[in-house]
Amino acid sequence: MRQIPLRSDLRALSGYHSPQVDVPVRLNTNEAPFAPPAAWLDEIASAARDIDWNRYPDRAATELREGIAALHGVSAEQVFVANGSNEVLQSILLAYSGAGRNVTMFSPTYQMHAQIARVVGATVVEGKRNVDFTLDRAEIERIVAESKPAVSFICSPNNPTGTVESRENVEAMLLCAPGIVVVDEAYAQFSPWSAMELVNDDTPLVVTRTFSKTWSMAAARLGYLVGPRWLVSDMEAVVLPYHLDAFKQRAGLLALKFVGDMESRVRDIVAGRDRITAVFESLPVTWWPSGANFVLFRPESMSGKAVWQGLLDRGVLVRDCSGWAGLDNCLRVTVGTAEENEVFVAALKEVLA
Ligand SMILES: *Cc1c(COP(=O)(O)O)cnc(C)c1O
Repeated sequence: MRQIPLRSDLRALSGYHSPQVDVPVRLNTNEAPFAPPAAWLDEIASAARDIDWNRYPDRAATELREGIAALHGVSAEQVFVANGSNEVLQSILLAYSGAGRNVTMFSPTYQMHAQIARVVGATVVEGKRNVDFTLDRAEIERIVAESKPAVSFICSPNNPTGTVESRENVEAMLLCAPGIVVVDEAYAQFSPWSAMELVNDDTPLVVTRTFSKTWSMAAARLGYLVGPRWLVSDMEAVVLPYHLDAFKQRAGLLALKFVGDMESRVRDIVAGRDRITAVFESLPVTWWPSGANFVLFRPESMSGKAVWQGLLDRGVLVRDCSGWAGLDNCLRVTVGTAEENEVFVAALKEVLA
């Protein structure tokens, strides 16, 4: 066997894997627990017949970008769309970071920010959160002064802690950061405010969103950014030709007709989140306030790993964060349907009893 070694700087990276175990109640990857609206499914099925499958898709994804722009009250020239917000993040990092440049984020946070930065050859410089996972302005200023980052990430609400970042902190970052500031808003619909209101052509700020969570479309792999026009046009330099297929463009455009349904699902999820945290109050667990569709918690009477296994034995899969830096013994549960939430809380009570 003639095997060529992987780039040496990538060999130490373990990749990003959430185990896909086949269990009745899957509360580990922050997806929506509901299928998309039935009417969307009907429309997308007939849309499949209208596509000119022998032709390349609209390279600029014009209609989809116009639809997303209308949703946010911005111009289509401020919208870039890609295969999941992860590809959006990768495009930003390809365009503005790379070898010899620093990329910052505040840990614990979404691991893909550091992972993709390393894959594109950039140097990762991690700032620290407080014990309650909030972020001090002084720490933002320290990390920026120390690393002069080409790209800085703020994740709000932050995955996996659920912490909502303050507008003051985003503004503080914009004031001191020399490069691009990315606010990853994968969970924005659950959050009390959005950095979208700070986006304009004079500010190097990008807000990223995804169809994977609130829109019940994780299978479609669709995400986007809203940012300055110059940045959106810079994305052409790094994105592959026709990167977004015609079917996905239609799927996203059709989804935008169902904003009302999406918003009512968000309300159901928030109610489910309140139900779960109310139960946490009565159990020996520490939990952190969440502005997202998941809650981070730490069992106080058993190890996180044992609780994770106990839940799995009862058919409930949550995310095991217990080995992650800064998250000793922590688990993260995604809010599910009302029924799934009841199965989870009943299982948790049993495990902790
Ligand atoms: C889930 C998640 C994403 C989503 O990525 P997609 O590629 O759009 O599925 C992005 N950022 C954060 C913080 C997430 O938790």
